Order: sequence, then structure tokens, then C-alpha cells
Amino acid sequence: MIKGIDLGGSYLKVLNEDGSKEIYKIREFKNDRHRLLGILKDVVKNGHPEKVGLAVAGFVSLDGYLQKSPNLPALDGVNLKKELGENVFIFNDVSAGAYGVWSSEAKDSRIFLFIALGTGLGAGFVIDGKPFLGASGSALEVGHHTLRVGGERCSCGRRGCWEAYCSSYALERDFKILSGKALEAYEVIKLAKAGDRDALKVIKRLRRYLVIGLMNVIHIFNPDVVAIGGGLGISLADFFVGLEKDVRSRCEALPGNAFKLFFSRCGQFCMAKGALELVRKGYI
Ligand SMILES: [Zn+2]
Repeated sequence: MIKGIDLGGSYLKVLNEDGSKEIYKIREFKNDRHRLLGILKDVVKNGHPEKVGLAVAGFVSLDGYLQKSPNLPALDGVNLKKELGENVFIFNDVSAGAYGVWSSEAKDSRIFLFIALGTGLGAGFVIDGKPFLGASGSALEVGHHTLRVGGERCSCGRRGCWEAYCSSYALERDFKILSGKALEAYEVIKLAKAGDRDALKVIKRLRRYLVIGLMNVIHIFNPDVVAIGGGLGISLADFFVGLEKDVRSRCEALPGNAFKLFFSRCGQFCMAKGALELVRKGYI
């Protein structure tokens, strides 16, 4: 038996090979390394799987070393493979997610780019059906390419990153500056849907930066399919009507005419699914 696990800041999501799913809430002890590793070990061993794919948010090497995780700082510096066993294979969550989306919704794509908007901005790449993971497992950190020198502060500590304009914290920051109100991203989106002018304005700003960032990555990768996902990306889909056309009009004709863009419906187990598929095919 093989399973895929998605380790996020709030939940541990498990997809078993037979299609059964499990969710464990870990938010309340996410700062407790001992408890976190305890539940992770239990979940990994449950059912005695031969292999486990583990998708982790953050900078995680292919040999399992979690260098830095913004959502799970308690695990910074932990070698997950050493803790969990040699049959556990570790991936960046969005790299795994890209493989999950590709295998569920875009198997015909040869040059597939996945952009996930959420708390941060992550990406993954699948080329000729194979994951592109990079030399150390951290390929496609395009959320940290600089769009504006000296711009807004990013979660990574740098300034002007794409993520600093296209993420839930960017939306919350911009809305607070404009309206004086501290709301969560989903509340800002709700207000925008009700016609609130400030909320609409900050979403428009996010969209502008999304278009420019997408143009950059399309010029670099020349994909045939671009999928947008992540909780924020999907909940903003109503405001992204015409996105493909807008991006295309900014690109050079050759890469601009080569891609199609869609919003992924792969769902909340997509990263677990990608991790499961990656170990099933032995891509690590
Ligand atoms: Zn950054």
C-alpha cells in the first residue's frame, strides 16, 4: 500500500491508494515539535504502507531536510526522512500539487505550469509527464522573483517579491491601508462580491501583479498549459475573468499563443494526490 500526505500549517491530509481520505487538525499544536512529529509518525505508519509521499510547505530538500517552513516553524531544521523512515519521500507541497493537478486535469500537457495562490505564492512544473523538482527540491520558487525593487515586504524577508503582491497577506495588507479595517482575505473577497469599492480596488491591484508575474514566468518557461489553484486563487476566480487574454496580450506572440489557462478543480487533496502519484511512479 502507498499513501500521500499533505502537511500544512492547519491540517494533515492523507490520501490512501484505495482512494480513502483522512484529515487531522494540527493547528493547535503546530508550534510543538514533539507532538507534531508524534502525530506525523503515527499517520505515516498507520496501515504499514510500503511507501509514503509527503508534501510539505516550505523549503524542503529531496533528502528530507526541512530548511525553512513559514507555516510550520516548529519543524525548521528537522530531517523528516530521518525522523519518519527511509520509505518516506519528501516533496515541496506545490511541486507535489502540480503533479496532482497534471495527473487529474491536464495529462495532455507536455509543458505544464501550476501556480498556487494562498497564504503565499507557490508554483510547480511538470515536463513531459515528469516533475521538475530542481537540484535540491526547490525549483519554481517564482513567488520570490522580484517584481518591484524596494517594493512591499515579502514573507521571505526580501522586498518586492511577486508573492508580496499576490497572496492572502498582500490582500489583507492592501485592504487595511485603504480602508483602515483589518480583515482576513476571505472577508475582503466577500465584501468585493457585495460591491465594496475598497475591496474591489485591492483585488484589482492583485490582479495587475498577477498578470505581470504570469507574463514573466510564461516568458521563462513557455508552457502549453497554466493552471491556477490554491485556496485564494480559486476563491478569486470570479474576479479573474479574461485573465488568459490579458496575460496573452502582454506576452511575446510565440509564448503568448502557446498556452491555455484554467482554474484547477483538483480540490483540497491535490497535494496529497500528487505526493502519492510521485512515489507510485518512483520520481525521487
Ligand atoms: Zn519573497
